[in-house]
Amino acid sequence: MFELSAFRFCCWSAAVVVSIGLFLGGCAQTPSANVRAGRGHFSTVLIDPGHGGKDSGGVSGRGVPIYLREKDLTLATAKLVRNELRNAGVRTLLTREDDRFIELDDRVRMANAKGPGTVLISIHYDAVSNRGMNGAKTFYWRADSHGLATRIQQHLVSATSETNIGVIRRRLRLTRNPDIPCVLCECAYITNPTEAVKASKDSYRQLIAHGIAQGILEQYRLGDAGIPSVPEIYAPLSSAADKH
Ligand SMILES: [Zn+2]
Repeated sequence: MFELSAFRFCCWSAAVVVSIGLFLGGCAQTPSANVRAGRGHFSTVLIDPGHGGKDSGGVSGRGVPIYLREKDLTLATAKLVRNELRNAGVRTLLTREDDRFIELDDRVRMANAKGPGTVLISIHYDAVSNRGMNGAKTFYWRADSHGLATRIQQHLVSATSETNIGVIRRRLRLTRNPDIPCVLCECAYITNPTEAVKASKDSYRQLIAHGIAQGILEQYRLGDAGIPSVPEIYAPLSSAADKH
């Protein structure tokens, strides 16, 4: 059994929050990449189902009528996203196809090995001790990932009618460290009884996957056209030693 407190920071094992000081004072700003309007500048989507193997990620816990493991939901959702992108003619790859453990740094290496022309979409579900928490959010760090994050979040919320927690700029291992555009989606809270029941169903995960895929496809077609630009912010690579 998992104690709620034990998995409260499940996804934060993947990540570290940038300090407020970095946002407000310590950052060197450079112009954002000159992205041509109307083009997404990528041909391949690397989809990363969060966790796997010995790392279950979050679990639904007490007070939720169904037992869910984050790693199972992320893999199922990632495959649905892949199907929809493939049907639309976009090349897709998964960081894992089955229930196996992959180090976060190895996921980053996979992304960097693909290099320019690829974007990374990491899929997660949230788990916290407060069962009332619900909704979806999308993290990004790189300036060239703001449009991708914005479009995915818009479509994810639209497709599911979930609470829109928003697009959040945060220095996570999988948003800061890759050398390519990258975002991390938290699709729903599996510790929320209502969201857990929904997320347990294929039909609802299909809605989530549809939203994510539609956001990616919109970015593929339009690039950053119509998206407010954000400055690049310098920050050191996020490491396993970083903690809250
Ligand atoms: Zn996670």
